[in-house]
Amino acid sequence: MPTWLVTGGAGFIGGNFVLEAVAKGIRIVNLDALTYAGNLDTLTALEGNPKHVFAHGDIGDHALVARLLGEHQPDAVLNFAAESHVDRSIDGPGAFIQTNVVGTLALLESVRDYWRSLEGGRREAFRFLHVSTDEVYGSLGDTGKFSETTPYAPNSPYSASKAASDHLVRAFYHTYGLPVLTTNCSNNYGPYHFPEKLIPLIIARALAGEPLPVYGDGKNVRDWLYVGDHCAAIRTVLEKGRVGETYNVGGDAERQNIEVVETICRLLDERRPRADGKPRASQITYVTDRPGHDRRYAIDASKLQAELGWKPQHTFEQGIADTVDWYLQHQDWVQRVLDGSYRLERIGTAA
Ligand code: NAD
Repeated sequence: MPTWLVTGGAGFIGGNFVLEAVAKGIRIVNLDALTYAGNLDTLTALEGNPKHVFAHGDIGDHALVARLLGEHQPDAVLNFAAESHVDRSIDGPGAFIQTNVVGTLALLESVRDYWRSLEGGRREAFRFLHVSTDEVYGSLGDTGKFSETTPYAPNSPYSASKAASDHLVRAFYHTYGLPVLTTNCSNNYGPYHFPEKLIPLIIARALAGEPLPVYGDGKNVRDWLYVGDHCAAIRTVLEKGRVGETYNVGGDAERQNIEVVETICRLLDERRPRADGKPRASQITYVTDRPGHDRRYAIDASKLQAELGWKPQHTFEQGIADTVDWYLQHQDWVQRVLDGSYRLERIGTAA
């Protein structure tokens, strides 16, 4: 069974990815800086599991990354680590440049040096997979979809920093021959999603009886993908993707933000009606739009589907119902992530 070095594996997508990979018998070395978005609470099921080694640290720390690579000799490195929240990038772009651009560059240099030290078949088979976003392509009008050949046109500091990281990854392939793969995925949702993002935020606020903020007219469109389907796509690209290529990943599930919020309200009303019997949609409040808010994202994932045989297993209706159920059953996780207590008390136990 292979060993993979995963960065950002205590975050939302990385955490789901690590849980699934270890369950499949893969040995994971998980490097995460445990920012506000990273939480070891997500990984409690792996406590004591020799297939999971957690390392607390920064992707930009050359000495640490070189030590981990040398010690664990991974067959692949998968880079999930990032600052990921668009609103935070508007308030403070600096952290996004630091991790997503400077950090990714440092990681690429460390990985390149490690890859050069490998020999024969191990060097041939090695891969660096960079997890990126469809937001690098900018915004669509009412029609059309992003394909792998759509020109980059990032509009937020977050998407600009991810675009820069994608270009660095590409450059390391063309300049040094590092065997890279890049995936550009649409909006994810599912378990262990930090409650500042739309879907978990709406679930948390709806349950608390608070106003449900919807930006602008609520008609911005996102193409939603269940996180488990994204993780499967990443494993597929890692296994079968052509070196140097990029692959778009999407759920073919375009929804307006207001539709997503109304769906969550309805699911919660069915499962846990408000004490006063009022529908939760009555909590919806329109708020000033996000500056530079992209109107519509839609992904053409036909390259991944046709070339590598991946397709999503969850419809939006099934995935969102499962997600609402998961949050209802894991309110303790939400509380502990929000107050940070679990993360702080767990840091000292990290390997
Ligand atoms: P997240 O914010 O939930 O998790 C990011 C993780 O990276 C956290 O655990 C954090 O502690 C860690 N991290 C941050 N800076 C670090 C550093 N310098 N060194 C080491 N670790 C660091 O993000 P997510 O939603 O899980 O996204 C993961 C990746 O997928 C990101 O690269 C993001 O751009 C990309 N992506 C996300 C989505 C989405 O809908 N969430 C969609 C497409 C692509």
